[in-house]
Amino acid sequence: MTCRICEKDYSGIIYEDDDIIISLAEKPVALGHLKIFPKKHYTIMEQVPDDEIKTLFNTANKISTLLFESLQAHGTNIIVRNGIPAGQELSHFSIDIIPRRQSDNINFEWKPKRASPEQLEAVKKKLSETTSDISIGKSTETREIVSKKEDNKQETIKEQNGEKNYLIEALKRTP
Ligand SMILES: [Zn+2]
Repeated sequence: MTCRICEKDYSGIIYEDDDIIISLAEKPVALGHLKIFPKKHYTIMEQVPDDEIKTLFNTANKISTLLFESLQAHGTNIIVRNGIPAGQELSHFSIDIIPRRQSDNINFEWKPKRASPEQLEAVKKKLSETTSDISIGKSTETREIVSKKEDNKQETIKEQNGEKNYLIEALKRTP
């Protein structure tokens, strides 16, 4: 099976339905390293509709459980590489699920960077000001239900949805 848009060729498929493909990673960092793909082509996470995001992450959760049960993993890493600076190699969105064991020598450790209290305060202010634009924690579905139930809030919610989100715009620089 091949994506018609980016020509991503799937191999090592362990599961497939109308919406998703789960396959062995082509460059596994551990035995049982899996990738979950939406069948429709999206480059980055922001393009994936809310209901498909739900399906993909519900699946990631189930696959993680499967790795604990069938491969006796001691832990799992669930990773999205969103954009080239984040290590994204394929132009087709995917979620990596990596089974982990004690002392497996896979190194995801990051070194904390030093930041001044002023820098931290500035970034906190900048980010908390923009979180109201993106209706955090609410899917599109939920927003529709909310706007039907609470007439007085309808306008505010519509405005929020229509507003341009600069954080997300910045992420659109894609492979
Ligand atoms: Zn594709």
